[in-house]
Amino acid sequence: LVRLRQRLSRSQGGLGRGLLALLSRDRLDEDTWEDIEDTLLTADIGVAPTQELVERLRTRLRVEGNEGTTPREVLREELVALVDPTMDRRLSISGADGKPGVVLVVGVNGAGKTTTVGKIARILVAEDRRALLGAADTFRAAAVEQLATWGERVGVPVVRGPEGSDPASVAFEAVRRGVDESMDVVLVDTAGRLQNKAGLMDELGKVKRVIEKQAPVTEVLLVLDATTGQNGMVQARVFSEVVDVSGIVLTKLDGSAKGGIVVAVQRELGVPVKLVGLGEGPDDLAPFDAGAFVDALLG
Ligand code: GDP
Repeated sequence: LVRLRQRLSRSQGGLGRGLLALLSRDRLDEDTWEDIEDTLLTADIGVAPTQELVERLRTRLRVEGNEGTTPREVLREELVALVDPTMDRRLSISGADGKPGVVLVVGVNGAGKTTTVGKIARILVAEDRRALLGAADTFRAAAVEQLATWGERVGVPVVRGPEGSDPASVAFEAVRRGVDESMDVVLVDTAGRLQNKAGLMDELGKVKRVIEKQAPVTEVLLVLDATTGQNGMVQARVFSEVVDVSGIVLTKLDGSAKGGIVVAVQRELGVPVKLVGLGEGPDDLAPFDAGAFVDALLG
């Protein structure tokens, strides 16, 4: 939590501070409300949520202005409501019938999939769970090496195939070993070539099908780079049309001033942000919590 606050305050503090400064003006005139709207849009919250939030703030601050609720409290409540504290953000990693839970990690190249798989493995190991990694991003030789390095680093086995091998065969083998060796969780890293939707659908569909011959996929995590803004949203949409995404990992939040993307992507996909990436190191992954996130924004 402390880390979340520190990392966010460096990059995102501007959003919270900017909004608070605007809301604390003596007169909330039309120009001020326009500035507030611009500030929210710049933070990638999206058009519809921005309008809703501004409407709520206008109403509440007009009515409650003199009743001892500070603008800060009102803003905090409304931002938390927008991020939606009621969503279930726990990872589904529990398999059934003695089989491992299987987590499929998808997203475009460079979003931070491999890094995220390594970081999740680290958390699982710390929780005394037995994890195994499948390096099904076989199109990028470096990705397989990178995952192998993460495996060594956190002390979990990595199943890999020869370079250029079929991602589905690696995924199959990883889950087979996971079942055989009574692992608790198998994490499968996939390739993120967004060449075209049909190709992606073929590839991820096949990966998912071969896994499910052996154990149910309990979680499909879509990894999104927070710094990519609207472009990232377009990609998110494509992935969500191809696989049933059950959770979002928002990476590089440490390097983005656009925390509003949390709101935008949840709205767009109807799926919760479950984890946030806050740096390149093994411990730089945190469970997402609406209240803590908004507190970090507000500094
Ligand atoms: P992949 O192609 O989706 O597997 O992406 P990688 O895991 O290789 O990550 C791409 C780059 O982003 C690497 O340099 C990572 O170290 C970096 N990265 C991943 N997650 C984060 C994060 O949360 N914060 C920062 N600052 N960098 C990250």
